[in-house]
Amino acid sequence: MAMPDTTDLAELYRDLHANPELAFAEHRTAGIVAGELRRSGYEVTEGIGGTGVVGVLANGDGPTVLLRADMDALPVEERTGLSYASTVTSLDASGAEVGVMHACGHDVHTTCLLGAARELAADRGSWTGTLVCLFQPAEEVGAGAQAMLDDGLYDRVRRPSVVLGQHVAPLPAGLLAVEPGPAFAASDTLRITLHGRGAHASRPQTAVDPVVLAAATILRLQTVVAREVPPTEGAVVTVGAVAAGTVANVIGDRAELQVSVRTFSEEVRAQVLAAIERIARGEAEAAAAPRPPDIEMVHSFPAVHNDPDAVERTRPALASVAAAVVAPGPVTGSEDVGLLARAVDAPCVYWLLGGADPALFERLDDPAAVVARVDELPSNHSPHFAPVIEPTLTVGVRALVAAARTWLSPSDQRGDQG
Ligand SMILES: [Zn+2]
Ligand SMILES: [Zn+2]
Repeated sequence: MAMPDTTDLAELYRDLHANPELAFAEHRTAGIVAGELRRSGYEVTEGIGGTGVVGVLANGDGPTVLLRADMDALPVEERTGLSYASTVTSLDASGAEVGVMHACGHDVHTTCLLGAARELAADRGSWTGTLVCLFQPAEEVGAGAQAMLDDGLYDRVRRPSVVLGQHVAPLPAGLLAVEPGPAFAASDTLRITLHGRGAHASRPQTAVDPVVLAAATILRLQTVVAREVPPTEGAVVTVGAVAAGTVANVIGDRAELQVSVRTFSEEVRAQVLAAIERIARGEAEAAAAPRPPDIEMVHSFPAVHNDPDAVERTRPALASVAAAVVAPGPVTGSEDVGLLARAVDAPCVYWLLGGADPALFERLDDPAAVVARVDELPSNHSPHFAPVIEPTLTVGVRALVAAARTWLSPSDQRGDQG
């Protein structure tokens, strides 16, 4: 397979964009990453947690800084019309053929971190400490960070003093955004199987209809956020998929709901999960279901909590490379980067990198107008999501370099805090 010229970041980006790989299948990407890290002088370990790659540059005494990027793409058929658009298809977990696209911009993250790794290695006379550049698989299924931890990540690399990273977003390119405190929501994915009793469609009196049970359950689940969570707290309960029945003249014996839950505090998370279970069980009982529902946790990862002190410390570095640094408010999207920090009790600073063409914004000086415009543009996971290459890549590389230097700088005694 042809490998891209990694000396040109834009070309590398276009190559990664055109060759996306699904979660835990990032073999080509990981190979490119490992090769480029080795060329820059890093000690490279491949295959951590499946396809994870870590490059370590030990450069004398000082703190250890972990820079993180994710590498996986999504089962989305690209419709951007870009010259470097993906035409890749792959088989998903269920064996169906799906289009594959870097619809979340992890190709931006990978490219920027390779650029930053190269710059910091080339300039290693100006800092001391240990730099850990981590490329994780499978962020989209919420499993990659945990897989790397389970595979002994921190037995293989030194525990970091801080975890830094970024996510591209449809904010104007040139802009960065960082929210202290809860920044990205916790994400829980549940599969609820509701049991009914099958029968002929003409004899409902002999059935427990799982379609009606599912409908009642779905509607009642909407009351969790509307009627139980305090209005001052944020939470989302979305039933993203429902499956029941096959034909009109048969009452089936089961229905399956897939539920996505987003919350920002452990307290609300526990409250929402308990309410979902109570409602699923209660509706099943109300329907005289032959047995209680099966409730299975499919994925779960905690909220990303940006350490407020660490954000304050890093913000000037971000401001020095961006047109502006704004506080975007908590995002209901989720990220597993927080696990890498939480596992070693290190502070995390995870910011948003503007990637939308600034020309699409009429008023860049008016935050409310910018936010309103962001909501109209294709967002991450859209088949039309198309970050502009520049200035996105340049700002993304500079942000990582500047943020890392803030923590690596030997002249700053706070740098060796745990
Ligand atoms: Zn995503
Ligand atoms: Zn993402």
